[in-house]
Amino acid sequence: MVKILIIFLSLCCFSGPIHTQQQLDFCGTDIPSQNWEKIFSSLINDFIKTHEQNSSQQFTEYTIPVIFHVIHSGQSVGTFPNIVQAQINSQITVLNQDYAGTGFNYDTYPANAFVQWAIDQNLPPANLDPFGRVKIANINVKFCLAEKDTLGNILTEPGIERINLNSRGWVNPNTFTTPQTLRAYFDGTIKLGSIWNVRKYLNIWISDKNAAVPFTGFSTLPPLSTLPGITGGGEGTETTDGIWSYSSAVGSALIFPGGIYASPNVRGRTITHEAGHYLGLRHIWADGNCLTDFCADTPPAFTSNTGFPSYPLNPGSCSNPSNSPNGEMYMNYMDYSADPAKYMFTYDQAIRMQTAMLNSPFRNQLGTHGLCIAVLGINNEGNIIPDGYFLHQNFPNPFNPLTEILFSIPDLTNVTIKIYNLLGEEAAILSDQVRSAGNHKVIWNATDYSSGIYYYQLVTEKIRITRKMVLIK
Ligand SMILES: [Zn+2]
Repeated sequence: MVKILIIFLSLCCFSGPIHTQQQLDFCGTDIPSQNWEKIFSSLINDFIKTHEQNSSQQFTEYTIPVIFHVIHSGQSVGTFPNIVQAQINSQITVLNQDYAGTGFNYDTYPANAFVQWAIDQNLPPANLDPFGRVKIANINVKFCLAEKDTLGNILTEPGIERINLNSRGWVNPNTFTTPQTLRAYFDGTIKLGSIWNVRKYLNIWISDKNAAVPFTGFSTLPPLSTLPGITGGGEGTETTDGIWSYSSAVGSALIFPGGIYASPNVRGRTITHEAGHYLGLRHIWADGNCLTDFCADTPPAFTSNTGFPSYPLNPGSCSNPSNSPNGEMYMNYMDYSADPAKYMFTYDQAIRMQTAMLNSPFRNQLGTHGLCIAVLGINNEGNIIPDGYFLHQNFPNPFNPLTEILFSIPDLTNVTIKIYNLLGEEAAILSDQVRSAGNHKVIWNATDYSSGIYYYQLVTEKIRITRKMVLIK
């Protein structure tokens, strides 16, 4: 009976006229099978046992190299759907903020959010913040733009492969008018013809779509076995694993106002949401009425939410367990609320994602592997171009700037970089000197500085990040 229900829900949610009419921010990811969830639950239990024995209780930090396959039909760079590097950079910034628990609007979390729910459910302290609220979790998963392709060649644009579909003989994705045909076309043709090693990269395809297709993104789920199709729940394969997003749903108009966006998907949360599926999360309403998403700290929801709800939303909409008086968690990234209205994952969702990173054969080898090392290239003068903004994992230690260091920063707000020595003394203050294609270029002439460890701190109107680098002469 449950299986029939799941099949029914799958059918209803891909073809239901109500959804196509109302939900522009609709997701086309498959609902996991019962068997997949059963295996995943067992892995989660193992993870929790191991995690509880670990006295530090810290999550492992992961960094996932990302390659965006930008599918276009001959448009110049900067013309939809062939969006510019800076818009894609802003998506990586969004992912890193959202997965650290510091995403846009996280500071608007209501003062009493889900406090009563936490008490009623007897949630353990690990799930709560100091105010007794359900905690906005730090997943400890980071994302970086791949700087090397599968052959080790340096990419002209970090994290980007631009593909003119005409040169491949491919049909424009915007000719497919149903979710099923669009997905089948990507899986059978575009993904097949362009996917990079799924054990090393998160593949994200972005393209145009037909207006009749109601969703802006879909993802594969993490496979839980190397045996293909064993759990049958929409898992990725060697030729399909990854995320698709509508081009105009990529990135943040706040971080990069010069991009091409379609309201309300203007804060990059489509890919935050899809990456949640990619790491094993389910929708907050579990694709049914008050069903479980297998996270004890997310209250049940009657159905998906849209727009800009306010707290508390729909208290009492579900019973057993009751979500009264705190209502539904519309601010969770796994709901359908408008991009700016979403700003959290929970601790139990973090455990699912950490479990996927540890166990899925297509996730458990993801790491920088030198693919995201921040050296973009060394020219004949010996200049090294590190990217101090988002490619911080495995920052080149040591590196050897004979003359100057160039930071490439995808941000249009006022930018300053401060350099500190090991004693914390300010060694230099740099402001943006060169701009090109939406990027700031900040140059540090390190000629007069001695070898040693330095810290560089990026300061913009929105963000302050400090990283370490080693200067050797
Ligand atoms: Zn979804």
